[in-house]
Amino acid sequence: MAVTGSATAALADEPCPRAGKGPADALRIGGLTPLTSIDYPGELAAVVFCQGCPWRCRYCQNTHLLPVRTPDPIPWPRVRAFLAQRRGLLDALVFSGGEPTLQPALRAAMSEAAAMGFKIGLHTAGPSPQRLRRLLPWLGWVGLDIKAPPGDYRSVTGVPGSGERAWESLDLLLGAGVALEVRTTLMPAWTLEAEIAPLMERLAARGVGRYVLQPARTDACLDTGLAGSPVAYSLGELRALGARLFPAFEVRAA
Ligand code: SF4
Repeated sequence: MAVTGSATAALADEPCPRAGKGPADALRIGGLTPLTSIDYPGELAAVVFCQGCPWRCRYCQNTHLLPVRTPDPIPWPRVRAFLAQRRGLLDALVFSGGEPTLQPALRAAMSEAAAMGFKIGLHTAGPSPQRLRRLLPWLGWVGLDIKAPPGDYRSVTGVPGSGERAWESLDLLLGAGVALEVRTTLMPAWTLEAEIAPLMERLAARGVGRYVLQPARTDACLDTGLAGSPVAYSLGELRALGARLFPAFEVRAA
């Protein structure tokens, strides 16, 4: 997902309210997409890109969002003013990243946007099931990255224990009945037999109904050693297996 250049223009028209009016003002925001039809199924949405992520996935494309702070943050009061002007024009606000759930101010920002009448979407990798649980009252739709079976996460994220937390988040969302899309980005060296099919079968058995596979983009990703890596899997075989295992399945460009 791209952070569009039109965000600056969209926000430039908004009044600049004084900061410090509420807990949501502490939200660290690194980007904004003012209008998208693909980030919340069936709805016109804006996307707020939250700054900071605790993981370092080798294929990450949003490297500018990984540090906790950015030299050029977008203040939440500007987003609030933007939303006030878009009532009736936008249906939803999606929080993406980086990793939104690690910011304590996210809850207050979701609460504000919901009170303004917007549906709330979330893109998350699920690193904190505890924080995710506290967000459930606001969530209308979630896109959850499941990167690998739990024991293989470290080879993707670089962080021990990341897989257990992500899969706990999956179970939390499935149990809560939140509208959910699970996505997996495919490492180039993965094969259908060794890595991909066992993961897909495990997710289907867990009750995932909507599943998306995304081939990793290896240009300009965090691990420059991945650039130009040949792909070891066949998209045709993935499509056939996905159609058999999931009620809704898609292979999507990353
Ligand atoms: S791809 Fe990985 S490192 Fe990049 S934002 Fe998502 S969880 Fe964080």
